[in-house]
Amino acid sequence: MNLKRSIQVEDGQLMLGGVSAADLAKEYGTPLYVMDEQMVRDSMAAFRDSMNRFYEGKGLVCYASKAFCCKEIYRIAMDEGIGTDVVSLGELYTAKSVGFPMDKICFHGNNKTHRELEAALEWGVGRIVVDNLTELAELSALAESKNQTAQILLRIKPGIDAHTHNFIRTGQIDSKFGLALETGEAMEAVKEALAAKNVRLRGIHCHIGSQIFAVDPFVHAAEVMVGFMGQVKAETGVELEDLNLGGGFGILYTDADEPVPFGDYMGPVSEAVKKTAAKCGLAQPFVLIEPGRAIVGEAGTTLYTVGSVKNIPGIRTYVSVDGGMGDNPRYILYQSRYDMILANRADEPASQMVTVAGRCCESGDLIGENVPLAAAQPGDLLAVFATGAYNYSMASRYNRVPVPPVVMVKDGKSRVVVRGESLEDLIRNDC
Ligand SMILES: *Cc1c(COP(=O)(O)O)cnc(C)c1O
Repeated sequence: MNLKRSIQVEDGQLMLGGVSAADLAKEYGTPLYVMDEQMVRDSMAAFRDSMNRFYEGKGLVCYASKAFCCKEIYRIAMDEGIGTDVVSLGELYTAKSVGFPMDKICFHGNNKTHRELEAALEWGVGRIVVDNLTELAELSALAESKNQTAQILLRIKPGIDAHTHNFIRTGQIDSKFGLALETGEAMEAVKEALAAKNVRLRGIHCHIGSQIFAVDPFVHAAEVMVGFMGQVKAETGVELEDLNLGGGFGILYTDADEPVPFGDYMGPVSEAVKKTAAKCGLAQPFVLIEPGRAIVGEAGTTLYTVGSVKNIPGIRTYVSVDGGMGDNPRYILYQSRYDMILANRADEPASQMVTVAGRCCESGDLIGENVPLAAAQPGDLLAVFATGAYNYSMASRYNRVPVPPVVMVKDGKSRVVVRGESLEDLIRNDC
């Protein structure tokens, strides 16, 4: 078990939000996504309050809802007074369905459809993050035809040196997202946006990658982005207001991870923003950040029931569970590592290294390899930690295994926030 993760155990039973995992499994079945509502609220509040602390309130946290999207997470985000970012009509529609304030939404995507741009305009999305010149032209024409003004940011690739920071995957020039600084593409786009009809260029956006533990790349990105705002002012006379620095803050999956306390990012980054702005003769911009994983990741735990345990002497022991790549595709996608314990024997020390396998017809369908675990028996309850981000939102129905329900726990109570799919749901759209 991870020494850095604090978990609650009572009488050998793992407790989640004051409810025992065993009771949750009994009431809702397994597999089950469990989300600790207080943890979600606390991290939203911490990010929100950091805007006051580091930017004197001149900023907005937009929860990156691709990490975990459903009606309830938008309601909670609204309740905590933060914004959100969406990347599809589906996410935007979900947010709209609970009355999410449109002026607090950033709409991303490197290839938004016409219908998505139309909806963004009709519903009054506060910031459409335009990815490329094709989209800019399309949006401008669309806004003109509707006699509306599109509020936009431009997505910039700040060209952060990927060689020194090789965990950064989306800020470099070879990325499908955004407009490159080095080539002059970004400046050209700014000029086109300023000249475009029915478009108001509010500012610029970057997102340099995900699960980042170092502070430097964020500081560097902030310097480059504000420096570019200075260049824009020098060349066009226009001072942009918004600086969206994206998300990507790393979280604790296993002991190998070293999450940086949030203030340790925000302190140096806000200093870099302010210093660079002063140097360029700019007012302090309105800063947006977009944490996804850092808000919901560690709040989530997935519960599975152990089925067969297959010991292959001299090779390995397979512990099979009743879920897998359908509810958590991150192992098969990225060989992501997770911490896990037997929830019904939570104070038993790990006694063996096992491979935890899912139930799908794919040999790669694993939840983890070389995982330390107490001796698992059929019927045990396996808890996999830090599954709140990019699990439910990436779930599939492969092998026609229904997507499990999502339950929120808080103060000893549990409630379903996404119903589990039924067999009837699985055939609903079949003709
Ligand atoms: C994915 C993404 C985020 C969130 O990333 P996390 O690593 O989950 O914080 C934020 N902004 C944009 C544009 C993204 O694509």
